[in-house]
Amino acid sequence: MCGTRGFIQENFGKVKMEDPNLKSIINDVGFRFNKALGQNFISDANLLTAIVADSGVNADDVVVEIGTGGGTLTRALSAAAKRVISFEVDCNLQSVLALSLRGIDNVEVVFRDVLKMSDEELRALTGDSFKVVANLPYYITTPLVMRFLESALDVKSLTVMVQQEVADRFVAKPDTADYAAITLAIESCADARITRKVNRKNFYPVPNVDSAVVRIDVDRTKLDGEDAPLLRKLFKAAFAMRRKTLANNLSAAFGIDKQDASERITKAGFSPMVRGEALSLEDFKKLSRQF
Ligand code: SAM
Repeated sequence: MCGTRGFIQENFGKVKMEDPNLKSIINDVGFRFNKALGQNFISDANLLTAIVADSGVNADDVVVEIGTGGGTLTRALSAAAKRVISFEVDCNLQSVLALSLRGIDNVEVVFRDVLKMSDEELRALTGDSFKVVANLPYYITTPLVMRFLESALDVKSLTVMVQQEVADRFVAKPDTADYAAITLAIESCADARITRKVNRKNFYPVPNVDSAVVRIDVDRTKLDGEDAPLLRKLFKAAFAMRRKTLANNLSAAFGIDKQDASERITKAGFSPMVRGEALSLEDFKKLSRQF
């Protein structure tokens, strides 16, 4: 994207240096934060260590990071992992990263948008399997998580910093306000849990929301024998209009009349007046057999 790849190693060799101070590098090179790209960098060293620990990354792991930013998490990951492939879209960070990642020889920064890359292009960079660890740009959290969960790539886990309210949605239980289509999309192929809550003061510049780290361990066997595309369509349909009954939502999404939708819901073992938010993943599997 910026016409370079792996520039850190090429330009600076393998000289080891002390942990650089990100704020002074940013000031020295005159980097200007781009709010539209969700640039809130982690400024707390203990938090970096904690995220790496939460991710369970070890010396056998290849790590994919989305959003290199100033490179502080990248650097912490590089100390624990075999290799880190870090994606960033802001070419203005090149001069910051050249300094903050100086001397590190197992990191490759790729200036490309992973949302615009095919699985094959990713695999060429990452190899067969990897873990995702990232302080995600918040404006595209859900597409990024789903890009990896729905891909054919062997993604072992995702450990991601997201807005607190998004984290709550990722791990919500049925019949709660946070329970959503994304909850089920994650639950159907992974086990997710919040590993820590993170105060906004741990970022630079300070954002106007608090955050949380979520670890999502991928388990693709959860949908063995199920029609995954149909289930995903059901999840989306069920939450399309939260105030409406499931029958109304299914009728709209599947182009069937309401009576037909109600009968299918009843045959699956639920009240025709039920709302989507009351159904668990297992309930949705039962419902899918009526379609
Ligand atoms: N990892 C760094 C940290 O923790 O301090 C930076 C995290 S910051 C919240 C998110 C970063 O993602 C920003 O540097 C932003 O430029 C980058 N970014 C935004 N959209 C992106 C995309 N589509 N692909 C890769 N990086 C992106």
